[in-house]
Amino acid sequence: DRLVTAAADGEDRAVEAALRPKDLAEFIGQERVREQLSLVLQAARQRGATPDHVLLSGPPGLGKTTLSMIIAAEMNAPIRITSGPAIQHAGDLAAILSSLTEGEVLFLDEIHRMSRPAEEMLYMAMEDFRVDVIVGKGPGATAIPLELPPFTLVGATTRAGLLPPPLRDRFGFTGHMEFYAPAELERVLHRSARLLDLDIDPAGAAEIAGRSRGTPRIANRLLRRVRDYAQVKHDGRITPEIAAQALDVYEVDGRGLDRLDRAVLDVLLRLFGGGPVGLSTLAVAVGEESETVEEVAEPFLVREGLLARTPRGRIATAAAWQHLGLTPPAAPPG
Ligand code: ATP
Repeated sequence: DRLVTAAADGEDRAVEAALRPKDLAEFIGQERVREQLSLVLQAARQRGATPDHVLLSGPPGLGKTTLSMIIAAEMNAPIRITSGPAIQHAGDLAAILSSLTEGEVLFLDEIHRMSRPAEEMLYMAMEDFRVDVIVGKGPGATAIPLELPPFTLVGATTRAGLLPPPLRDRFGFTGHMEFYAPAELERVLHRSARLLDLDIDPAGAAEIAGRSRGTPRIANRLLRRVRDYAQVKHDGRITPEIAAQALDVYEVDGRGLDRLDRAVLDVLLRLFGGGPVGLSTLAVAVGEESETVEEVAEPFLVREGLLARTPRGRIATAAAWQHLGLTPPAAPPG
């Protein structure tokens, strides 16, 4: 229920379909991945061939699903969407693979979470466009080879390093997705505002972009909350003042920290003088589970240079004191 989480909720999914860029030219930012991918696709089109398998790695909400749909659209090919956790048995994967049509794009989200037997089946499918379907059990089991039409696998993972090397090596191209710069998020916001028929000031878009944690999904979500506020409290126009007021109501601060992020920093600074303090002590003081603090709040605080993890515990940086408007204690004499 956090407004600044990068994972998609139901409302996101409903709106995202309408906000997805449809081709590479419309896709904002990620210049390097876009250029590399454009070459891969153009070359495949010229050869009349199916493009190499593509691996997209990067944090959630940066546009991996969107890019996979663009790959299919650019190749004029259908797309099948599934995910690692949905494929528990090799048979699940065999069923999907054997129903693919020639040139189809298979998008496999969270590919690092596939089961081992399915993963091994995928190796052969990617390399030889063939799977061995095992029929029967025990000593009487037989492998029936099944030819597959050429297809393009687009795998998505939050960390390419999590993939076993034999799987990673079977991708012809890996695109590393980066967090978006504020100016790129402003362009995402202007585009979304146009599609949602909203009236937004350039400075209003900048205000929202600065709070969006480098993530288009979060930018689009904050835009919808600001839209509600502008519509209910004002005349609908999104100015920087209205954007700031709206996001203050939702406790997303000027840098994109939410209530939990600020609570962690606040406790670290006020109660523990900036640390070092152990994770579990910090979590108890905030009233959260250690995992929540470690997995939900800390990654962004570390990325923002507000908190550091050291062997002696968590410490706040000078930027953290500044962000919360507090003065660090004077260093002890000597
Ligand atoms: P997850 O892995 O969590 O599913 P994802 O990386 O696949 O996330 P998408 O679902 O592709 O993310 O993108 C999230 C939303 O952000 C979509 O609504 C999409 O419209 C928007 N978006 C992502 N990247 C861009 C972009 N480059 N330009 C414009 N909009 C974008």
